[in-house]
Amino acid sequence: MNNKTKLPLPPHLPGNLMWFRRDLRVTDNAALHAALKNAATRRAQVYCVFVFDTDILAALPMADRRVEFIRESLIDLGAQLAQHSNDSARLLVLHGKAEDEIPRLALELGAAAVYANHDDEPHAIRRDAFVSEALRAVGAPLHTFKDHVIFERQEVLTQTGKPYTVFTPYKNAWLKKLVSFYLKPYPTEKYASHFAAPSPALCGVYGLPSLEAIGFQKTDLAQLGVQTGSAGAQKLVTNFVPRMHHYREARDFPAVKGPSYLSAHLRFGTVSIRQLVGLALAQRSQANAQSAGADTWLSELIWRDFYHQIMANFPHAMERSFRSEYDRIKWDEGDEAQALFAAWCGACTGYPLVDAAMRQLNQTGYMHNRLRMVVASFLCKDLGLDWRWGERYFAHTLIDFDLAANNGGWQWAASSGCDAQPYFRIFNPTTQSERFDPKGKFIRRYLPELASLGDQEIHQPHGLASAKNYPAPVVDHAQARAKTLERYAVVKNSV
Ligand code: FAD
Repeated sequence: MNNKTKLPLPPHLPGNLMWFRRDLRVTDNAALHAALKNAATRRAQVYCVFVFDTDILAALPMADRRVEFIRESLIDLGAQLAQHSNDSARLLVLHGKAEDEIPRLALELGAAAVYANHDDEPHAIRRDAFVSEALRAVGAPLHTFKDHVIFERQEVLTQTGKPYTVFTPYKNAWLKKLVSFYLKPYPTEKYASHFAAPSPALCGVYGLPSLEAIGFQKTDLAQLGVQTGSAGAQKLVTNFVPRMHHYREARDFPAVKGPSYLSAHLRFGTVSIRQLVGLALAQRSQANAQSAGADTWLSELIWRDFYHQIMANFPHAMERSFRSEYDRIKWDEGDEAQALFAAWCGACTGYPLVDAAMRQLNQTGYMHNRLRMVVASFLCKDLGLDWRWGERYFAHTLIDFDLAANNGGWQWAASSGCDAQPYFRIFNPTTQSERFDPKGKFIRRYLPELASLGDQEIHQPHGLASAKNYPAPVVDHAQARAKTLERYAVVKNSV
């Protein structure tokens, strides 16, 4: 037989199963690329699945913007799959415990292997260990890949081989390690003919469920104008790129359109981190005048990698203080503390910038970075409350909630984190307001009851007749500051 003669294909070649999680896109997706490439070498095909995991959904309220964000992004993902595969690929969507559903589907499809991207959150690591075990039993190993960050886990280490716990040297090492290889997109398009076309029966059983069918309700996501899916992410990218060179000056002023607003997309992987870092580097290499903004924005993307490697290497910090001596701090508890917490959550602390920020969070599911720092500092250092209370509230409310970044941000504010601000640095919420919202434009947007106040008065409206419907400050900042310094004295000797 001539070597070049192709053998007839066997009637059924076991395909691969691509399990999408926090990587809801087709282009430049590491695991999807690996699944397709492997299938191509075996002349097999790739099925695609997403699981609405009841273990995660069970803890969420019925109206949760994230669930709708995901569902909308799955519509987009399905459309991308169809587009990339000449209308043959379909996304199969399951609802149940991922631990059960993935092995069951792999068995049903007779899959050769399951492919997924890394997720280093402690609960995800436990879940993946279960799934991997169960898949081994059905003869379909789980293969996982780095996709969500540029460098993960122990890829960037100190000279003594330890994970970095201070950002600046980490950033320098990160930049030193970065070569174009790490930014190369994974060319999934190349293997488009290897997407499987699931049978109509399979698509019928595993079609995209409505929100109601999985126990949720529609939210105000559309009214808020939140862009979903990779199409939404690319619109935000297009909008941000011409603004990137202003980022350094603009990013701290919540009334200004300074940041990219890409955080939810980075969270759910509707945009590739490699694309974004590539864009920052491209702008950095242009005229000097443009590089400051790109440099600063790149630093923020590196902070994201930094906190992810902290989570992977120091998982204890997801529950306790990164620096154990901070666990000695006694936070306030009891009815009064609960009342203060309710005032913080409900945006009625009597500090206008704090309240405007909390209204932004409650009304939109997003909060500007400067304000996240202000309200987090206020919760632990003015109200004397455990940072974990605030962390949990953010976790329930932010569309972009990301365990690593949220925990990192909270522990930074509480000074208990790896590269946190010193405990004696305590934001003054009024000074922050005067500095970062000098004309009260942001405050007026979210606290219309203070809209008629002058630019100076709006930062301290207490006692003004025109602000009589606005609450008095729940604490006196100077007194709270003194109390906080006392509270933190237990860690003084170890700083
Ligand atoms: P940009 O300013 O455009 O930044 C680009 C991207 O860089 C962001 O989308 C984000 O992925 C990353 N990034 C920026 N700043 C940080 C940072 N300090 N740490 C880690 N990554 C960063 N970010 C989240 O994505 N999810 C969270 O749950 C979260 N919780 C936070 C809680 C606190 C108390 C603090 C202080 C910060 C938190 N951050 C969180 C970081 C930051 O506030 C948001 O990433 C940013 O505001 C999102 O807006 P953007 O996409 O417009 O950001």
